[in-house]
Amino acid sequence: MSAAELTASDLSREYATRAEPLRVLRGVSLSLSAGRSVAIMGPSGSGKSTLLHILGTLDRPTSGSLRINSSDPFALTDSELAAFRNKTIGFVFQDHHLLPQCSALENVLIPTLAAPRAAGDSNAPVKRAAALLERVGLAERLDHRPAELSGGERQRVAIARALINRPELLLADEPTGNLDQDSADEIADLFVDLYRRDNLMLVVVTHNTKLAQRFDRTLLLNRGVLDPRPSAAAE
Ligand code: ADP
Ligand code: MG
Repeated sequence: MSAAELTASDLSREYATRAEPLRVLRGVSLSLSAGRSVAIMGPSGSGKSTLLHILGTLDRPTSGSLRINSSDPFALTDSELAAFRNKTIGFVFQDHHLLPQCSALENVLIPTLAAPRAAGDSNAPVKRAAALLERVGLAERLDHRPAELSGGERQRVAIARALINRPELLLADEPTGNLDQDSADEIADLFVDLYRRDNLMLVVVTHNTKLAQRFDRTLLLNRGVLDPRPSAAAE
């Protein structure tokens, strides 16, 4: 298998409005390879989530192209795309999006329900989910529901869930936006450990300069245009 890579070229995204179209992304290009990370910063409304959704194949660009592992995901049928996304891409959002009635372990297992079942050890997904929860420091919390976890712990469960199908691309949208600084620092440590050790491609949208500095590069999205962040710029 060739190494994972992502290339976004000249992406634009427009929304139809009653007046002229709202141009949210204007010619965004970005590339990333296995074991590399990028932070995306930028003011609220600058198009960060829109870009992340397109990189994650949840939304389609109005023009421009996206290639993941040398193929165009948007050329797939809807069901092929859903399967590709489930296998290749992990998402972490600002709000954890955990199911309140499910335990930490059950939440981590949810993405495996749609994945094709490997023959053999039917208990393998449960073992892997438990191992991932241990890896994110929650070995003692497998049976806790989201309401019985701290904000930082809930985000750890969300990260374990994002990794359960062994994605090659991990996307995080303001993952520490709701956390205090100490919890945010711990989550930052976890992301750095994960992308390096698992050789993931990682894109993190954040307002947190300290978090952004932990990754290979920081890009600034401003009014839909993506540029390297001037190193001297304040937040
Ligand atoms: P950010 O994540 O940087 O805060 P977003 O990508 O969420 O920004 O949004 C960028 C702009 O696109 C905003 O002005 C927002 O109002 C607009 N926008 C987002 N989604 C839609 C949509 N579905 N329809 C119309 N406009 C949208
Ligand atoms: Mg956003």
